[in-house]
Formats: sequence, structure tokens, C-alpha cells
Amino acid sequence: MSKPFFRIEMLPAKHGDALWIEYGTEELTRRILIDGGPINAWPEVSARLERLPAGDLGVELAVISHVDTDHIEGLVRLMAEPFQRWPIDPAEIWFNGWRHIDEATDLGGREGEFLSALIHRRAFERWNASFDGKAVCTGKLPGDAVELADGMRLTLVSPNAQSLAKLRKDWEKNLDKWQIDPGDLDAAWAQLVEENKFHPDAELTLGPDDLSDTLRSLLKGQDSGDANGSSIAFLAEFAGKSCLFLADAHAKVVCESLRDQGYTKAKPLKVDALKLAHHGSKNNITPELLELVNARHYLVSTNGDKFGHPNREAIEAVIQGSRRKPTLWFNYRSDHNIAWKAESLKPGAAFSTRYPAKGRSGIVVKL
Ligand SMILES: [Zn+2]
Repeated sequence: MSKPFFRIEMLPAKHGDALWIEYGTEELTRRILIDGGPINAWPEVSARLERLPAGDLGVELAVISHVDTDHIEGLVRLMAEPFQRWPIDPAEIWFNGWRHIDEATDLGGREGEFLSALIHRRAFERWNASFDGKAVCTGKLPGDAVELADGMRLTLVSPNAQSLAKLRKDWEKNLDKWQIDPGDLDAAWAQLVEENKFHPDAELTLGPDDLSDTLRSLLKGQDSGDANGSSIAFLAEFAGKSCLFLADAHAKVVCESLRDQGYTKAKPLKVDALKLAHHGSKNNITPELLELVNARHYLVSTNGDKFGHPNREAIEAVIQGSRRKPTLWFNYRSDHNIAWKAESLKPGAAFSTRYPAKGRSGIVVKL
């Protein structure tokens, strides 16, 4: 058997996330997709998915970490295609919808209902299958662990029941203005049918300039705090390599899970890579998190639009808090991250940086 590999592509998902993971051996490549980016990144994200070899569209797992538009819209767009035209064929889909929030005391907003309606009609039996169709949530499975094909082990660190339950209010408030009742998938489907941004006929051309004012207004102004807190986040381990994928999770929730799993400052979780939560926001990283996780590579997914991520404070915290000389990986060169390059080249710098080549976006991290 050839040497196993585990690589992560941070696709050019603008200010959002779309992470394409490949693992396995030369003979057989396995895949995981985490999030699909915002809809204006879909042309670039989908271009990657369409590069799969004909006849091999298999993906072990597609995860929609949470309902915020910079994570969910691309996958609403994907699933709004007839099933036969999906560029990938995921064996399982993780997404916490209203039915799961409801169950947690079970999620926010119109896109969440769109996605729920689509999964319900097109891939129901794949929905949160490892969790028996129930919420993807810590405390549900022994060791919070799921094993995918060929020994890829995922250990959930977020959300917990409380962070999932908190989403309820946001979800209801957002739906109120769209006149859909939470969990009314027929009503969501009917609105989705009218929202042709997500299913532009046969031509799959949808660029940023095609967005309606309605959709534009939908892309901002949501209080995302509770939604971020409901993020599905997990440790992925394969063939001795590992990455902690934090989506936009809250540090508090993640730390609580890590402590429950027995990690401490003295005995931290040692991983090859940590995908920083919330695009390197200073609001999603804490000294405690840096104490509990010992990583070598730090991954930041964002072009810096909208929120100016990553925050300087978050990157500084990583550089200062890392036990090993860290390498920072960025999937764009932006005004908000390029300064770190010069810093890393100074004599005695305690970290190094990796960027896409000039004029390019997206980056591949080989563990
Ligand atoms: Zn985000």
C-alpha cells in the first residue's frame, strides 16, 4: 500500500469557509467537504468540486457547520441542483436543522430552512446518519467519535446541547420576517422555488453581480453570535496526522469539550493543524484554547472582506501562545494578513507564513 496522505485545501471562499479534505492512499482517495462558502464564491468553489474524476464523485461526508451565509449558501446552491447534477455524491451530510434545535431543548434562519427542505427531499437518509438522524452534538456518541471509511476518525468538540439550543431564538426571529414557520419545509421549499438565485436554470452562471438587493440584504446584518456557537467542529485524525477544524465555534464550547476529553494545559491535545475559528476573529480565540491545543500549523480561511478578518490580536495570540514554532496558512493575500509576511521574514521571527502565489487564491496544506 502506498503512503497514506491527508491534505486540506482551503478553497477561495471569499470571507467564508469551504474546506476540501482528501485522505487515503494513492490507490483510493477519500474526501470530506466542510461548508460551501457564500454564494458569490460559488463559481470558484464549485469549479474545484467539478474537477473530480468522472465516475468518482464519492465524498464520505459533507458538513454544513452552521447556518451563517458565508458557510451555508454554496451548499444550498449545490443541493438546489437536481440530485443527478450534484458535482459530489456525499454518503452522509451533517447539518443541524430546526428539528435538531427543537430536539436540543433543536437552528437560525431562512437558508437553514432551505437547506433542510433540500436535504429532506433529496438525501433524507444521509442526514446526520451517524447520529441516527438526530442532532450532531457532543454528548451523543461514545467518545463523541465517528469513524469514516479507511479509519478517518472524527471527534466532535462543538456544538453542545446548550449552544445548539441558543440558536432557537435567532432562527425564529429570522424566519418571522420571511413568514415561514420553523420546520415548515414545504413553505421553505415554496420560497426556495421563487428564489432562483439558488437554482439558475440550466446555466450555472451565478456571479456576485447577479445578486438581487433582497439577497444582498440577506447576506448581512444577522447577529451571528449564537449561530457561530452552534458550529459543528471536530478533530479529524488519519494515519497519524490530525487537524482540529473549528468552523466558527465558540472557544468556550470547544474548551469545555477538550477538558471533558481529558486535555489540560499540562497534557494538551497535540495536532498537526488547527483551523482557526471564525476566520481568525479575536472573539473566537482564548488563551485557554491555546493552552489546550498544541498545533504546528494554523489555518486561516478568509479574504478579509466584510469583517477585516483575521484580527491582528488573534494572530498575535497564536504566535505568542504556540508551543511550537507555528506556520500560518492563508488562502488569500489580503490587506488584513499580508503584513505577517514581512514580520515572519525578520531575523529571529518565531513563526513562518504561507500564502497563495501572487494573483492566486486558495491553498493546499499537506499534513
Ligand atoms: Zn464564518
